Formats: sequence, structure tokens, C-alpha cells
Amino acid sequence: MLDHFRHPLVALAILLGACGFDPAGSQAWEPPAVYREWWDKTEACSGLGGDFDRVEWMIVPGESFPCSSGKCVGHWDPGHRIFLASDWSMHEMVVRHEMLHELMRRSGHPSPPFGNGCPLTWETWLRTQSAPALSPPARLLD
Ligand SMILES: [Zn+2]
Repeated sequence: MLDHFRHPLVALAILLGACGFDPAGSQAWEPPAVYREWWDKTEACSGLGGDFDRVEWMIVPGESFPCSSGKCVGHWDPGHRIFLASDWSMHEMVVRHEMLHELMRRSGHPSPPFGNGCPLTWETWLRTQSAPALSPPARLLD
């Protein structure tokens, strides 16, 4: 029964799965068509270029998931993976925030491009919206 664990590729896959960022219930999913538009807009505002098809999209059921800074609605992984809480998967700022990490190939939020250039933080995004700005939700974006 344990024979398949002896296969080196299977063993490697198990190790990678155990070490990587992998919130409970996360699943690979196909990005909706609008994500390509959002990707193009994010390339334009940042002046950076990247490969949309290289990103592996992961969805995590619910409104947030545990991350190093607390509870996140989005998380970018240097291995070209973007995790999104399912409740926020159609929120343009949340999705494009993570896209910008992929385009920058790093975490952290220097301005520009975050804030100046791309209004992809809660505070700067709410200022661009015509609806009355609510106070930014305490939702973290890794
Ligand atoms: Zn971030």
C-alpha cells in the first residue's frame, strides 16, 4: 500500500505540498475572463510586464484564510501562485493587488506602484470609487 511513496516524484510532490503555503480547502481554479482585463490594467498602471498564463490561481472557501500576518483575503506566493478567499474572488482591487505582486515578483507594498500608479490598497482604492467611502475593512492582503 505504501509502495507509491517510494516513487521519487511522488515523494517530492508530498514534500512540496507540506512546505508550501497551503490553506485548508484551497483548490486550483480557472480564472474568469475578466481577470485578463484586470491583468492588462495592472500592467498598464505599473509599467511592468508579466505572463498571465503562468499564474496558478487557488481559491480558498470563505471570507478569509490564515496567513503570516493574520487573516488574509488574498496571498501571493513567489511560485507564481495567487490565493484568493472565495468571497473576494470578484473584487477587482483584491485580485489586482495580488496580480501586482506577481508583476513585481516580490511581497511588500512600495509606492509606486502601490498607491501611486496603481490604487491597489484599501485606502487608495476607496478614494477612486464614486460610492461614499466606507472605512477600510480590516482585511489583509499579503
Ligand atoms: Zn500585498
